Amino acid sequence: MTGTTEEEDPAATDLAERKMRFLFALRSRGVTDARVLNAMERIDRGLFVKGIFAERAYEDMPLPIACGQTISQPSVVGLMTQALNVSARDTILEVGTGSGYQAAILAELGRRVYTVDRYRRLVREASDLFRQIGLTNVTAMTADGSHGLPEQAPFDRILVTAAAEDPPGPLLHQLKPGGIMVLPVGQSDAVQSLIKVTRGANGFDYEELRPVRFVPLVEGLGSE
Ligand code: SAH
Repeated sequence: MTGTTEEEDPAATDLAERKMRFLFALRSRGVTDARVLNAMERIDRGLFVKGIFAERAYEDMPLPIACGQTISQPSVVGLMTQALNVSARDTILEVGTGSGYQAAILAELGRRVYTVDRYRRLVREASDLFRQIGLTNVTAMTADGSHGLPEQAPFDRILVTAAAEDPPGPLLHQLKPGGIMVLPVGQSDAVQSLIKVTRGANGFDYEELRPVRFVPLVEGLGSE
């Protein structure tokens, strides 16, 4: 026999099995959109979780990342991405880069992604990962995302991955007509709701999707 097949390599078999269970868990929790599932199959969450938590990367749970932040639960990433209904022509803003995982998935689906975080360190590490996996249509920047990104606006889609008490005005303003924004709203540490905002010809339409729990949207830049 020549070469090594997956059957002969227990570590590779184990990893393949964990990735299969990962996708199965996403489906069973309501992530059914084929494009979203394909993107989540292509982007390896294992690259975005570091240190002692890396081996739990394929479990459906949020995990700690640097700067006291968290990488979101994969099924929540899938449901939010699905609700955003991204098309291949879309320019997307993500507020809350964190690990960069969600932005990488958006970059698989849209034309251009801008993602901002208030921590320089998270932006640097996510940018390194985007380069490493060859994603060229996503740019991470250090900024207070509650002001949006006026220079790149308007956006077809906006995804906020930190909870505000209300949808920030500048983000509503930077959404194109026909655009969609998905964000958690509510008091930090209390129950928050995931909201889908659609900008119509005559104003904004709000739809409440499900209860969620995110870190708070904090004003100003972080210290790291
Ligand atoms: N989407 C991330 C997880 C985000 S955790 C992922 O896929 O891993 C929420 C992130 O929002 C944190 O990194 C936090 O620093 C960031 N954040 C909080 N308030 C912010 C603000 N005002 N502007 C930009 N980023 C903010």
